[in-house]
Amino acid sequence: MHSAETIVVGGGMFGAAVAYGLIRDGVDTVMLDGSDGSLRAARGNFGLVWVQSKGLGLQRYADWSRESAHLWDDFATDLRDSANIDVNHQNGGGLNLLLSEEEREDYRRMIDIMRQQAGDGGYDAEIIEREEVQKMVPGLRVGDGVAGASFGAHDGHVNPLKLLRALHRGFTKLGGRYFPSNDVARITHDGGAFIAESATNRFTAPKIVLACGHGITKLAPMVGLNTPIRPQRGQVLVTEKIEATVAMALGSIRQTDEGGFMFGNSEEETGFDDGTTLPVTQNIAARAVKAFPQMENVRLVRNWGCIRVLTPDKCAIYDESETMPGAYVATSHSGVTLAAANARHISRWVSTGETQPDFDHFSARRFDVPATA
Ligand SMILES: Cc1cc2nc3c(=O)[nH]c(=O)nc-3n(C[C@H](O)[C@H](O)[C@H](O)COP(=O)(O)OP(=O)(O)OC[C@H]3O[C@@H](n4cnc5c(N)ncnc54)[C@H](O)[C@@H]3O)c2cc1C
Repeated sequence: MHSAETIVVGGGMFGAAVAYGLIRDGVDTVMLDGSDGSLRAARGNFGLVWVQSKGLGLQRYADWSRESAHLWDDFATDLRDSANIDVNHQNGGGLNLLLSEEEREDYRRMIDIMRQQAGDGGYDAEIIEREEVQKMVPGLRVGDGVAGASFGAHDGHVNPLKLLRALHRGFTKLGGRYFPSNDVARITHDGGAFIAESATNRFTAPKIVLACGHGITKLAPMVGLNTPIRPQRGQVLVTEKIEATVAMALGSIRQTDEGGFMFGNSEEETGFDDGTTLPVTQNIAARAVKAFPQMENVRLVRNWGCIRVLTPDKCAIYDESETMPGAYVATSHSGVTLAAANARHISRWVSTGETQPDFDHFSARRFDVPATA
């Protein structure tokens, strides 16, 4: 039996960020993770720190995404110090290219609603013309079919694999204990302590955080919580490495710090099938060429499908169990964007009980709408 002050179940983008924050605050923490066969959104994502489209219908989540983006600079510095890894955080704003008049009109409507929803708090994204886009990305020729873009002032991007590596390395360097290949199958609560059991080990602590992506659905009911999430597939394409041409974050086409371009990001309701398909791949590639015609001559080297972790309203769930206090869940899409807030605020909520303003808006109780007759 391994004992600790806190058990974090999940070593993906959410779990590792919370575990890193806990150990940073001096909390003796074990982080239990699955294995290569698990669904792992942390290993297949696009790397955006993205704010402009987040929180439609839940303003607290829009604010939360922006707060996290603002914490990101310090967070990246902190990771560099503790893990000696530069995650290459860029925060000069982000462009979402609009490839038809219809897309532009749909986006304009969304921006109007977001602006109304934000009220005095403000909303910092706007539609800009193709000529302006061209000025912002001088290293690439913007295609004639581009109907403008939305520019979000708070957006940015990082290298997500380096981020995951940095969280893990920082965690262990600061004294955290990491147990890969320890899928938790059972959680019990006994005399103020939780016991989490994998096939090979048992762990005990007075607090337990479930931050294990799709694994949460099975485990949350064991601590009296309901955490509704569903899968959605995203396919991503990667090109060969070419000379650096654009540092700014682009919503569906971004150049990584290593030179390759990533093209993405489909939204497909295919259950837990994380394969790739030719029609979707072709569509993603065609959009990239429409946006920047020179991409036609850049070779694709890799593509993958990966399963998103989506709540019903695509906003985060953070909850503590009422029946078993000391058990928490933390889950959402946007684990890269929220990594800074998770490491700073969610770890503190778990260790001290300190919450952020209007924190109850993140409870899954928001989905408990009484059925109508
Ligand atoms: C195609 C795609 C693009 C994306 N792009 C972005 C983006 O640009 N920006 C952004 O912010 N977000 C993006 N995301 C979302 C982001 O990757 C996820 O929000 C994030 O990875 C979720 O973190 P998580 O820790 O909850 O889940 P995961 O990252 O999936 O990690 C879950 C972990 O828990 C482990 N686990 C599961 N069950 C158990 C168990 N029973 N016991 C122990 N361990 C367990 C698994 O092995 C895994 O390591 C994208 C996602 C996809 C799929």
